[in-house]
Amino acid sequence: MAHTYLRCLALAELAFVSARFFHHRCALAQREKSFTLSKFEDLQLAKPLLRALETKGYEIATPIQADAIPHVMKGSDLVGCAQTGTGKTAAFALPTLHRLLTAGKRNPSAREQRKIRVLVLAPTRELTAQIGDSFSAYGRYTKLRHVMIYGGVSQVPQVRKLKGGVDTLIATPGRLIDLIGQGHVDLSHVEMLIFDEADQMLDMGFIHDLRRIVSHVPPKRQTLMFSATMPAEIRKLADEWLNKPANVQTARASAPAEKVEQSVYFVERRMKVQLLEQFLQKTATGRTLVFSRTKHGADKLVKHLQKAKIRGAAIHGNKSQSARKRALEQFKSKSPPVLVATDVAARGLDIRDVEHVINYDLPETPETYVHRIGRTGRAGAEGRAVSFCTSDEVYQLRGIEKLIRRKIEIATDHPEFSSDVAPPATVGSGKSARRGNQKPRWQKGGRGKPKSGGAKGRSKGSTSGGRPGSGGKPAGKTGGAKRRRRPAASSKG
Ligand code: AMP
Repeated sequence: MAHTYLRCLALAELAFVSARFFHHRCALAQREKSFTLSKFEDLQLAKPLLRALETKGYEIATPIQADAIPHVMKGSDLVGCAQTGTGKTAAFALPTLHRLLTAGKRNPSAREQRKIRVLVLAPTRELTAQIGDSFSAYGRYTKLRHVMIYGGVSQVPQVRKLKGGVDTLIATPGRLIDLIGQGHVDLSHVEMLIFDEADQMLDMGFIHDLRRIVSHVPPKRQTLMFSATMPAEIRKLADEWLNKPANVQTARASAPAEKVEQSVYFVERRMKVQLLEQFLQKTATGRTLVFSRTKHGADKLVKHLQKAKIRGAAIHGNKSQSARKRALEQFKSKSPPVLVATDVAARGLDIRDVEHVINYDLPETPETYVHRIGRTGRAGAEGRAVSFCTSDEVYQLRGIEKLIRRKIEIATDHPEFSSDVAPPATVGSGKSARRGNQKPRWQKGGRGKPKSGGAKGRSKGSTSGGRPGSGGKPAGKTGGAKRRRRPAASSKG
């Protein structure tokens, strides 16, 4: 009897364990299924590339990578609409390297003679260098070679490297045109043509250079076009230069990085510098990127900051390449100065852990705002973006809010600079506001000089937390601006 009872008990336990095991396997299978499409090892990339990904510690492909890589590996043309920070460089670099490794049999002599088989075009020197870094990292276990060419530095070492043979050429359009003209670059063996940040290249006026470059590349090729936004001009060029492209898109072009907390200070123009100083002293004590509309404005800001004993560095198109490189290196270091940048210099830069982006001047085009704030909150990290808005800029602010389809909250934690009343909805929605003809209610009446308290923070040599030279609150999650809801009067617009 006791024996039968024990047998029943054992059987019941076995059934229970089996059921649990089965349930566990199902859950595991389910989880594996959801990962199947996104794991690099499932994308059939060449072994040396998988090894390089392992070295980098990347296991799961980002959505743009998971979508784009199979198309590119197959040889299809592709239009990719993706924000910076989504992993789009690897989305084209990995399958390009894969094709260079595996599809070379199509053109054995080009392969053997190290003719340029891939051409990547990018708008700025920094982006070119960044793409080059990606090719180095992902191609580290291959014998493939790439060369970067861009202006602002001597062409001699670049030409020397070109002569040594190259598989992938990564170039800005201007310097490339120069070197083609001098007979240093032969694009007649190009099999893949890649445009990165195509919209910015158009914004920078490269369209004629691009047309000339395309005329040097064989029409029978694979073409990829990546762009953060997809205006009609880009679509038109894609129709002209690409052949039945696959389309991949990760996020709405106007979608700002999801985890970026956004706020706006309404401030009088003459108070902007003081607000910036105080904000840097008290709130943005970590890695902070400040956007200025002009190169001259960026230099002036750095001087102002220096007077306030805040370390700053400027990055813009008038700076020499070595100065830009130095500023970037310092900014990436453990004790970063505040980096004051113009849009052209900063777009596409991959800098990790930018805690605050400050729009000292609001950008002319709303899309630029999205690019700017995309410098923070990269790869899913949290970030904060604040904008300093004067009465002249309310028009731009409304444009941004329309694009991102939400209201940006008003920050009030530096009340000595902010106004008590937010600008009425009508302000800025018409041209008169843009010209500054109509002084908004919130701006009327002088606010006087800011209170001096609280600006002691970032003095040189302070040993407290945050950026060196900062005596303010250490960098951390508490550093966000306090916000209040926009009053009803301003909630339309
Ligand atoms: P990008 O949008 O190309 O500028 O990439 C943004 C950042 O994400 C870069 O620092 C990449 O190295 C990083 N990254 C790209 N792909 C992955 C991935 N699959 N997993 C983790 N990080 C990635």
